[in-house]
Amino acid sequence: MSNTIETQLLVIGGGPGGYIAGIRAGQLGVKTIVVEGVNPGGTCLNIGCIPSKALIHAAEEFAKVASYAAGTSPLGISVQAPALDLAKTVEWKAGIVKKLTGGVSALLKKNGAQLIKGWATIVDGKTVEVAGAGEDGGALRIKCEHLLLATGSDVVELPFLPFGGKVISSTEALSPTALPKHLIVVGGGYIGLELGTAYRKLGCEVTVVEAQDRILPAYDAELTKPVATHLQKAGVKVLTSHSVLGLSDGGALRVRDPDGNELALDADQILVAVGRRPKTDGFNLESLGLDLAGKAIKIDDQCKTSMRNVWAIGDVAGEPMLAHRAMAQGELVAEVVSGKKRHFMPAAIPAVCFTDPEVVVVGLSPDEAKAQGIEIKTSMFPFAANGRAMSLESTDGFVRVVARANDHRILGWQAVGVQVSELSIAFVQSIEMGATLEDIAGTIHPHPTLGEAVQEAALRALGHALHI
Ligand code: FAD
Ligand code: NAD
Repeated sequence: MSNTIETQLLVIGGGPGGYIAGIRAGQLGVKTIVVEGVNPGGTCLNIGCIPSKALIHAAEEFAKVASYAAGTSPLGISVQAPALDLAKTVEWKAGIVKKLTGGVSALLKKNGAQLIKGWATIVDGKTVEVAGAGEDGGALRIKCEHLLLATGSDVVELPFLPFGGKVISSTEALSPTALPKHLIVVGGGYIGLELGTAYRKLGCEVTVVEAQDRILPAYDAELTKPVATHLQKAGVKVLTSHSVLGLSDGGALRVRDPDGNELALDADQILVAVGRRPKTDGFNLESLGLDLAGKAIKIDDQCKTSMRNVWAIGDVAGEPMLAHRAMAQGELVAEVVSGKKRHFMPAAIPAVCFTDPEVVVVGLSPDEAKAQGIEIKTSMFPFAANGRAMSLESTDGFVRVVARANDHRILGWQAVGVQVSELSIAFVQSIEMGATLEDIAGTIHPHPTLGEAVQEAALRALGHALHI
C-alpha cells in the first residue's frame, strides 16, 4: 500500500452509521474506504446495543430460574437454586459480539468497500491521515471526494465523579469480572435502567439515583409508571430528585436529597450513565470550522454539513442517538453520493427501552400532538385484557394510539409491556404508510398475540373495542 491513496468516499468511523454507509456505497459502485480506530461495529456492536441486550437476556433467564427455585411459581415449576458462572456468561456475550463484528468486516469486503484499521486525523475537508496504516508503518494519507463523519459519541463523565476505581461506565458494566454486592446507578435513563435491572436480576442490590423527579424523564409519565412499579417490586431502590455530589473520603457516594440533606450511600460499584455526547474532538475536526448545533455537527436533511462534500451521520450529528437512525442516515448518504435523490425525512424514528417491562415510543404522544395544536383521538388498550399477555404472566402495561381527529390518520403509538419492542415494527410501519385507525382496526391480527392489543387500541379509539 502506498502512503497516499485516493477514494471517492472516505468514512471515518465503522459503527452502524459508518459501516452501513460503506456497504451501501460499495453496492452502488462508489469507491469507498471506512477507517475504524477500534473495532468494526462501533459502540453498538462492541459496547452498546448488542452486548447490553445479551446481558439483559442472561439476567432474565437467571432471575426466572431463581423465581422457580423460590418455590412460589403459580406454574407449578420448581427447581434447585441456580448458580452463575459469570465468566462464562461474559464469554457468551463476547462470542456474539465477535460474530457480529466479524460479519461487518466480511460484509464490507463482499460489497467492495475497504476497511482500514487506525485512528483518522483530519488534514482538510478532502484529506485524512491514518497513523500506522502506511506501507512502512507510518501514516497513510487518504484523499477523497466526499468525507463522511461517523465518529459516534463518548460517554459523559461527571467532573465531580470521574471514572476509575469503583466508578464505572456502561463499558465496564457490560464486562463484569465479579458482581458487586451493591451497585449504585447514577442516571435513571436508558442505560441506567436497562443495566440496573439486569444487575438486580443477577442478584445485586441496586440503587438508582436520578436528578429529575421521575425515571425515564424523556418519556411521558403514564408510560413509565409500570417500569417504576416493577423496579419497586424487584427491590430496586429509586431515589428521584436527588443530586450527586461526589465521593466521600471513605468512598461512599454523597448525594443531596430533595430537602437539601446530604446522604452517604455505600456501594461496591457506581455506574454513571448520565448521557452521551457527540464525538467531535481528538481528530482535528475543529480545523474544518463546521457549523455546530450545540455539541453536535449541524446537518441538513441530506446529512450535509456546512462544508461542501463533508457529511455527518449518527450520534456525532446529535439526537436521537440510536443505532437504527445512524444506519438509515448512512444508507442515505451513500445513495446521495452515488447520485440518487434522497432526503432524510422519516415519518417517525422508533425508540425502545429494554427495561422490564419494555417501553416503545413511535411518533407523537398525546401531549406532543396537542402542543402542536393538533386535535386528536387517543385511546389505550391494557394488556390485562389480552390473553397472550396472561399466558406470559405479564399483564402490566398497555398500547396507546394517537390519531388526528378529523381523518383518523395515525400520528403516534406508545406501549409498555412484555416484549413490546417487537410491536415497534408494526407501529412505525403504520405511521410510515399513512395508516388510519380504520386500517389497523380492519386488519386481521393473529390470535393469541400481544399484537391484538394494537388492533384493540385502534378499535377503542373508534369507539368499538371488542375485548374491553
Ligand atoms: P458509533 O457506534 O459510536 O461508532 C463510531 C465509531 O467511530 C467507533 O467505532 C469509533 O471507534 C470510531 N471512531 C471515532 N473517531 C474515529 C477516528 N478519528 N478515527 C477512526 N475511528 C474513529 N441504540 C439503539 O438504537 N438501541 C439500543 O438498544 C442501544 N443500546 C445501547 C446501549 C449502550 C450501553 C450504549 C452505550 C449505547 C446504546 N445505543 C443503543 C446507542 C447506539 O450504540 C448508538 O446510537 C450507535 O452506536 C451510534 O452509531 P454511530 O455509527 O453514530 O457511532
Ligand atoms: P439518558 O439520556 O437516557 O439518561 C440519562 C439520565 O441521567 C437522565 O434521566 C438524566 O436526567 C439523568 N442525569 C443526568 N445528570 C445526572 C446527575 N448528575 N445525577 C443523576 N442523574 C442525572 O442517557 P444514558 O442512559 O446514558 O444513555 C445514553 C444514550 O444512549 C441514550 O440517550 C440513547 O440515545 C442511547 N441508548 C439507547 C438505548 C436503547 O435504544 N434501548 C439503550 C442505551 C442507550
